[in-house]
Amino acid sequence: MLYGALEAGGTKMICAVGNESGQILDQVIIPTTTPDETMPKVIEYFKSKLDDSLPDDEKIQGLGIACFGPVDVREGSKTYGNILNTPKIAWRNFPMLKTLKDALGDIPMGFDTNVNCSLLGEATWGSAKGLNDAVYITIGIGIGMGAISGGNPIHGMLHPEAGHLMMSRVPGDDYKGHCPSHGACFEGMACGLAIEERWGKPARELGDRPEVWELEAKYIAQAITDILLILSPQKIILGGGVMNHAPLFPLVRKYVLEYVNEYIDTKELRNINSFIAPAALNGYQGVMGAIKLAESAAAE
Ligand SMILES: [Zn+2]
Repeated sequence: MLYGALEAGGTKMICAVGNESGQILDQVIIPTTTPDETMPKVIEYFKSKLDDSLPDDEKIQGLGIACFGPVDVREGSKTYGNILNTPKIAWRNFPMLKTLKDALGDIPMGFDTNVNCSLLGEATWGSAKGLNDAVYITIGIGIGMGAISGGNPIHGMLHPEAGHLMMSRVPGDDYKGHCPSHGACFEGMACGLAIEERWGKPARELGDRPEVWELEAKYIAQAITDILLILSPQKIILGGGVMNHAPLFPLVRKYVLEYVNEYIDTKELRNINSFIAPAALNGYQGVMGAIKLAESAAAE
């Protein structure tokens, strides 16, 4: 069976076709500019995968949409499938799911945040395979978190927004923070744009400045400590461009153990290297999660 997958990100849309094993068989990348410019190209791609001239086994049987947020993921809500109050003005209140349903007709569609989809991909085929309770945090231009609890993505009143956790300032750090809503929240202190503003250079040019990564690790570890104390996950996966700076992982693990301070003792914390781990699907976790979402929607 073939499934369509759309990973809608703030800078690019990845449109793909994959199968029930998570193999990606075809993909195109379309820049995210405005809905008027971007969506016709996205729709054209998926229409071509539903074309009547195709044999049935070459048509997609469903579409999974992994969307940048905040988004309305509450089925039954009037604005289900809409992008909400995003800083990307052109996309604010854009009805992503409805636009695709109107254009592509009656194929099963699943819709979730891009971070929840990344986690779904990792929980199905990657580093959280077989786990029911896990967290995925992406630390890039912004910071986002997805979580599954009991095998299901956490949505609740909206969906987790742990990128905006309140932080305690590291002593001596007087950076005001990058978040337009909160200043010095987790994203405000630790996202890629905050690193660049604080140190005057993009993260990729700061590899030889250990103090940058010490401070970064302290903020990430603070957030992880709060998240692990609240959600009690079996694994925390860290992805996103900032985490490509490999020396961050050991520092983050060290400070998480320091902040937890032996208050809890679990086999996961004793195996910290596998408890706090990188994504395993080489950047394809979001698209693969969207394939899984499409498969689940088609099976309903
Ligand atoms: Zn914030």
